[in-house]
Amino acid sequence: MLQQTQVKTVIPYWQRWMRELPTINAAAKAGPASLHKLWEGLGYYTRVRNLQKAAHQIIENHGGQFPEKFDDVLALPGVGRYTAGATCSIAFNQPAPILDGNVIRVLTRVFGIAQNPREQTTIKKLWQLAETLVLTAASDPHHASPCSHLNQSLMELGALVCAPRQPGCDACPVRRHCAAHRQGRINQIPNTGKRARTTTRHFIALVAQQKGRILVRQRPPGVVNAQLWEFPNFELGNGSDLNRAIKKTWGIAPASIQPFCTVKHSITRYRITLEVFQAELKTPPGKTRQLGRWLTRRELEQLAFASAHKKILARLSP
Ligand code: SF4
Repeated sequence: MLQQTQVKTVIPYWQRWMRELPTINAAAKAGPASLHKLWEGLGYYTRVRNLQKAAHQIIENHGGQFPEKFDDVLALPGVGRYTAGATCSIAFNQPAPILDGNVIRVLTRVFGIAQNPREQTTIKKLWQLAETLVLTAASDPHHASPCSHLNQSLMELGALVCAPRQPGCDACPVRRHCAAHRQGRINQIPNTGKRARTTTRHFIALVAQQKGRILVRQRPPGVVNAQLWEFPNFELGNGSDLNRAIKKTWGIAPASIQPFCTVKHSITRYRITLEVFQAELKTPPGKTRQLGRWLTRRELEQLAFASAHKKILARLSP
C-alpha cells in the first residue's frame, strides 16, 4: 500500500483491509470485486492484484508464513528491491539497504552528490551508499534494532524534515554532516534535471440514465485501472465536434445532452480534463450492450470505481 503513496493516505485503507482480510489466507481467497473495492481510491491497482498473487505464493511456497529471507521476499509479485529491503530491515532487522525518493534526497544532500539521481550510475552509487550505511549500523553492538531504526530514520528524515523545498535544516539531526547545507547548495541538490513536460488531455464522459438505471462499464484487463468501473468515456481530439465524436465512437446519437460537471485530475505527466455530460439515449438498453451495463445507483455503490469516476458518482443524487 505504501508504494508511491503517503502514510497518512494509506492508514484508513490499511485499517479497513485488516478488518476485512486480516490474514494471508483471507487475502488469497478474496474475490476480485471485493479486493478492488477495498483498494478503491488508492490508485496503482496492479498492487492489489500482486498482493493477492503474493498471498497465493506464500501459501504454496512457504506454508502460509511470510518469508524472512531477502531473496524469498524479493521473489514475491509486486516486490522490488526497495520493498524487500524495507520489509527485511524494518520487520526483521536485516542489513538490507533501502532507497526511495525521500532517502535519495537525504543521501544526495548529506553526501553532496550533485549528479542526477535518475541516471543509472548515480542510482548504483546511492544503493552502495545505502548498503554501506546499513552494514555499518548492523555492526553496532549497543543497539537492539540498528538496521530497522537506521532505515526508518532515513525515510522519516526525508519525509518530515529534509523536504524538497524549504527543508527544516535548523531542526535536522544530521545538519553537522550535511554537505549541501554546509555548501549552501540545498536548492541544487538533488539535481533532478529537467522535468518531463506535462501534456493536457481532454476526455468526454457520459452519464446516461434510463428507468432508474445508469450506464457504466468495466475497464478491461491489461490497461491502467484495469477491472475498475467507469462511466463510458473517450478522448476528444482538438476541435472535434462533440455529437459527431459520440456517434463515431459509439455509433449512437443521444436525443439530448446536458453539461453535468468537470473533473480535473493528473496521471503521471498528463493533466486530464474530464468533461461530463448527462445524456438521454433513445437507444433501447439491449442495443447499448457494447457500451456497458445498466445498473441501479445502489448497485453502483458496491463497485470499485476509478478515482475520477468516483467523483462523478458522488455528484449523482442517491
Ligand atoms: S541539513 Fe537540511 S538539507 Fe541537510 S539533511 Fe538536514 S534537512 Fe536535509
